[in-house]
Amino acid sequence: MTASHDTRAYAERITLDPGSDENWQSLRALGHRMLDDLFDAHQALPYVPAWRPLPATKAELFSESGPEVGLGPDMVYDQFRSHVFPYGNGNWHPRFFGWVQGTGTPLAMLADMLASGMNPHLAGFNQAPAKVEQQVIGWFAEWMGMPGASGLFVTGGTMANVHGLACARMAMAARLGRDARKNGVQTWPDESAPAPLVFYGSTETHSWAKKAAEWLGLGDRAFRRVAVGPDRRIDMDALARRIAEDRAQGLVPFCVIGTAGTVNTGTTDPLEAIADFCARESLWFHVDGAFGALLALSPRHRHVVRGVERADSLAFDLHKWGSMPFECAVALVRDADTHAAAFKSEAAYLGALPRGVSAGGQRFNDIGLDLTRGFKALKIWMQLKADGVAKLGAVIDQNIEQVQYLARMVDAHAECERVAEAPLNVLCFRYVPSDTSREFTDNSARETFLNDVNREILMRVQEQGIAVPSSTVLDGRFVLRVAHVNHRTTDQDIETLFDAIVEIGREVVSGRD
Ligand SMILES: *Cc1c(COP(=O)(O)O)cnc(C)c1O
Repeated sequence: MTASHDTRAYAERITLDPGSDENWQSLRALGHRMLDDLFDAHQALPYVPAWRPLPATKAELFSESGPEVGLGPDMVYDQFRSHVFPYGNGNWHPRFFGWVQGTGTPLAMLADMLASGMNPHLAGFNQAPAKVEQQVIGWFAEWMGMPGASGLFVTGGTMANVHGLACARMAMAARLGRDARKNGVQTWPDESAPAPLVFYGSTETHSWAKKAAEWLGLGDRAFRRVAVGPDRRIDMDALARRIAEDRAQGLVPFCVIGTAGTVNTGTTDPLEAIADFCARESLWFHVDGAFGALLALSPRHRHVVRGVERADSLAFDLHKWGSMPFECAVALVRDADTHAAAFKSEAAYLGALPRGVSAGGQRFNDIGLDLTRGFKALKIWMQLKADGVAKLGAVIDQNIEQVQYLARMVDAHAECERVAEAPLNVLCFRYVPSDTSREFTDNSARETFLNDVNREILMRVQEQGIAVPSSTVLDGRFVLRVAHVNHRTTDQDIETLFDAIVEIGREVVSGRD
């Protein structure tokens, strides 16, 4: 039996769909215009500024009160086109190198449109989109050397890392015979206070770990920051000492974080040594591979992240080095039972039946925090099928080569100084006018001067729309930071950035605008 189609009934109800064939036609035409505009904008990227600030007159649109009646789709699109579209943060531009923000791809853009148009609900269920997600998770589990791992798509590296840490905490609580899901991290009157659980990572660990400690109720004190060596990798002796001290004080260490690709300098902790250590000490080994884990896809650089395959949990983004549009990240957990034990919940309205929509299949809401989830997997599924994974690996190699090219220019130039080792795709450097050592007898005055100069250079390079590098502070020094995950960049773009920094540096020092 099929549902009958009564045109009159359709015409009479209120819907957010176009109300007539004519309206459908005009929305269709608008949709085609949007696609054309998107493609035109992509093709024009090399010739437009990397960033431009939103003019104050246009910003006024964003203080208007909420619309009581509608303007219609065409007028709204015109507003988007004039007030929003040109004023993003620039991360799709070939000369964007700031923070670690991915670029996006035209095919993934289209896939997101398909996913959004189809709009399936990815709690799981008996549907093809859930199979797509499961399949992509399976591919990455293989590529990361964790075949059969349990996993799911989440919004970003922060969320993926939090999922890993949550599993680590639950696993330790279970070992201690504590019902962490029932009792939480509080002390109830009928219980004696449990010993605090603590976890470890280097001082170069990304700021997600502090947020996670706070959010999981462990408290910031539970995140034990371990010193790094001169190479900015975790000091394994310091780690062992700290854990022994903590145990002697009655604390319960449960996890060590290793970072594959640190956010400051792109270095990678000694993952194999941490894996050995965790195995010896019965600790959970979590790897934050937000961008760096994707090195596993590059035959040339895979060795850098050796040991990642021994992680108990692994977090990585596909919206950074995977070039996917936001938001797109993966949490992998080696042991499926441990993973489910951390999140599985029963709710009458979510019960599965033997047949029908809710039958069988993976339940992503049982291995993660989100219940309603979008179809994030489609874009990477389509991109990988269209291009093959080797091409993703080749982009990663190209980014590393381009940063090494920039590093050589920096090293060769008398007025530039590299401030940290740049083993991969992150370079920290600064402009140092040649005569500052003579001008300043006091070193701290010289450092303050250089910080001011480089801050000014960075703002001008961005404001002039030339390129978008970002910054960080290393040992008190304000440095320019290029974190390169951009598949659109040419060698010439790298040269443009370098030349601009030197030229603007000279202008800043000589007091010219
Ligand atoms: C970006 C990053 C994160 C956070 O990931 P989001 O996707 O921004 O939430 C965590 N760790 C490292 C090393 C990162 O580079």
